[in-house]
Amino acid sequence: MTHIVCLLAGDGIGPEVTSAARCVIEASDVDIEWVNLPIGKTALEFCGSVLPERTIAAIAGHGVALKGPVTTPIGRGHPSVNVQLRRRLNLFAAVRPVRSLPGVKTRFDKVDLVIIRENTEGLYSGLENEVVPGVIQSLKIATTVACTRIARFAFEYAVSHKRKKVTVFHKANIMKKSDGLFLQCADKARAPYADAVEYEELIIDNGCMQLVSDPSRFDVLLLENLYGDIVSDLAAGLVGGLGLVPGANFGEMCAVFEPVHGSAPAIARQGIANPLACIMSGVMMLDHLGETKAATRVRTACDAVLKEGNPEHLTPDIGGKGSTQGLVDAIIRAMA
Ligand code: ATP
Repeated sequence: MTHIVCLLAGDGIGPEVTSAARCVIEASDVDIEWVNLPIGKTALEFCGSVLPERTIAAIAGHGVALKGPVTTPIGRGHPSVNVQLRRRLNLFAAVRPVRSLPGVKTRFDKVDLVIIRENTEGLYSGLENEVVPGVIQSLKIATTVACTRIARFAFEYAVSHKRKKVTVFHKANIMKKSDGLFLQCADKARAPYADAVEYEELIIDNGCMQLVSDPSRFDVLLLENLYGDIVSDLAAGLVGGLGLVPGANFGEMCAVFEPVHGSAPAIARQGIANPLACIMSGVMMLDHLGETKAATRVRTACDAVLKEGNPEHLTPDIGGKGSTQGLVDAIIRAMA
């Protein structure tokens, strides 16, 4: 069967890592017709918009996309393209599996957790204004609909992926109403799953301390938008860095697969970006498409190359001396 997949290269290291992922996925013998679509800085140059309507329409129509990172201006400029894309397509759940990888030496070797991040509201609603000069307010939105939807998603995910525990990080001691609602919804949503999945609530500061002391005690983490963003990068640090953590965004109608990392402009066009996060996002996509054999083939090959640990095949962020292309070639050879 031929799958139609939208391919959004993005900017910064985006074109390098998406093209690497495409090469590896194609080598897994899966039949994919790629539809290249503009997004971000390049889209602005050629289409006059960072998020062209035809890009949104194509993803909505085909239902699946593999996306590279897109640069977000800091403290000025257009609203985040990622936030807009997630909102327009109602991609309400981000799923980010964080696991220790063979051969990648870090402080911990038994990390195997999944971050589930609410993607549509919280402090990402973009509602900021200047009350009087020198006083800014930023609104944090929490709705029963979105909090319940993400909580149900987390419990469903836990059951279907044979996970044992869901932990919510929150700050309901300070944000009693918004984080309070998040907790109430999670508590209500867990009822049908109570026999299968353990449930735990931790204040986020304590949660982070426990995460960096003993990450193996965590299984599925359920987080509102901002906490999910921050804890994802923190968790990436536990397993070797942002170059290694894949992600997916799910809505009712479509799914967009993308690495957790940003566009890393400082290393763009040098051929040294780690493509593994994007390749592993592609593996999540293959699983989603029902191509489990191909997914396992790619995942096993990535693990084999990491385990072998030949510095010539690894990118500098994980201690290697190699290049993006060198790592891609090694993975493709390991698949043969
Ligand atoms: P954003 O706000 O868009 O998420 P960010 O501020 O989190 O971006 P990143 O672009 O993710 O920043 O980069 C953070 C650091 O991680 C940088 O030092 C970058 O070089 C490194 N990094 C991120 N992704 C990769 C990768 N694929 N390969 C190598 N290094 C990476």
